[in-house]
Amino acid sequence: MTLFDLTGKRALVTGARTGLGRGLAQALAGAGADIVGLGSQPMPDTAAAIHALGRTFHEVVRDLADPTGLDTLVEEIEAEAGPIDILVNNAGIIRRADVLDFTEADWDAVMDVNLKSLFFLSQAMARRWVQREQPGRIINIASMLSYQGGIRVPSYTASKHGVVGVTKLMANELAARGITVNAIAPGYMATDNTAALQADAVRNRQIMERIPAGRWGEPGDLATAVLFLAAPASSYVTGIVVPVDGGWLAR
Ligand code: NAP
Repeated sequence: MTLFDLTGKRALVTGARTGLGRGLAQALAGAGADIVGLGSQPMPDTAAAIHALGRTFHEVVRDLADPTGLDTLVEEIEAEAGPIDILVNNAGIIRRADVLDFTEADWDAVMDVNLKSLFFLSQAMARRWVQREQPGRIINIASMLSYQGGIRVPSYTASKHGVVGVTKLMANELAARGITVNAIAPGYMATDNTAALQADAVRNRQIMERIPAGRWGEPGDLATAVLFLAAPASSYVTGIVVPVDGGWLAR
């Protein structure tokens, strides 16, 4: 277990209020990390869950729809909460419409949160780690739609393909600085993000039929992947994408 011990580390998790983000924060706290949760709304349930694990929780209410000023934001977060060691870029949104109807507003909204803010938050964090000559861990949340096209989600698919590209690019440039950049690609997970799919009887059946594990994933299913990528002992693992998908990609 010492290989995965995060005692004394601090993780900044975006989108920590709900779903996968809360699960990722709980996994990191369970391994000993203190947590900074960032999202557009207060997150008392996440704070309570982290406190129950005996770790500190620092809340940052910030809308990542605005991808500007993230250098200053990271500076302020570290001044208030202490230095960050691990960044988990989990915040994400999805907009659904047919290709022929998809709007520019839905394109921009998704790209700003899922890709532009992810890159500039990572850049801000990496700049500070390089300045301090400190190792760091960046873990991005990708998707099955980093591999596949999907249906009725053009900006989401573009953003999640982009997340994998940026993960590899940043890994290449930052490896020599002791900073690893990796991604987790969750399969179909039961969260607010997929509420519309779960509620659609036809799509739900189609999805279930294709998952070898025979069930939707749960936030806790990502725990081992995030601990692997966050571990101090994983310093030679960079630029990879770890699918946690119940076998979806194998079909
Ligand atoms: P979720 O419950 O909807 O969580 C999304 C989180 O992102 C929320 O906590 C939300 O917090 C935060 N967020 C959204 N817009 C934001 C903004 N403008 N600024 C700051 N934070 C924002 O859905 P989820 O399934 O856990 O999604 C988490 C990540 O996993 C996303 O990147 C998603 O694309 C990815 N993913 C999900 C699945 C799945 O099947 N569920 C599969 C693959 C990948 P606030 O509302 O408080 O801002």
